[in-house]
Amino acid sequence: MSSAASILIVEDEEQLQRMLRSTLTQAGYLVVTARSGLEALEQMVRNEFGVVLLDLGLPDMDGKEVIARARTISRAPMLVVSARGSEREKIAALDLGASDYVAKPFDMGELLARIRVALRIPQAVSVAAKPAAKGLHVDVAVRRATVDGASVRLSRKETELLQLLIEADGAVVSHEAIIEGIWGRGADADYMNVRVLAWQVRRKIEPDGAAPRFLIAEAGLGYRLSLD
Ligand code: CA
Repeated sequence: MSSAASILIVEDEEQLQRMLRSTLTQAGYLVVTARSGLEALEQMVRNEFGVVLLDLGLPDMDGKEVIARARTISRAPMLVVSARGSEREKIAALDLGASDYVAKPFDMGELLARIRVALRIPQAVSVAAKPAAKGLHVDVAVRRATVDGASVRLSRKETELLQLLIEADGAVVSHEAIIEGIWGRGADADYMNVRVLAWQVRRKIEPDGAAPRFLIAEAGLGYRLSLD
């Protein structure tokens, strides 16, 4: 590797911050730390990071606010590392643009794997400017979907799912291919993760979730995008 990936660790717990710093440095990453939301945002203005590890419980502001503000200044994937394991917190963080969520206490091996996945994801992939489907536009670079003129923000994984389906041009993308494309080969993700992700995407792009117009499930096979 010509230049090591840099990671910003945003964590106010001294011990955990030290532990993360030492493990990630040993793993070959360039590590920068911040103890508050403001410090984190200042760092993101000054440097481009490969990944940002973000604690939600910070002394000066909620981590979710950091995510929302960071999106205007940084394209780095944000990996939330938080003890707040509630599904609602998780969805809120992902909705705001976090790319992934790891609950504390976490396994170091798992965290390293998620960091590798986050680093592998291209920051901006251009997809043909034509509509993904009639009435649906997806802008992968800024992670937004426009449905009948109304724009919604997508999380990184939601964008990736739509991107996979757009690239398939209406063909069915298998659950396995989706898992591999989004979580990576050998990742600890299964059919349920795909279902939850598809549900999240539908919640955002389908005018009627009960009768999906764009994101079509093919039982036992996978998903496809309805192009007409
Ligand atoms: Ca904290």
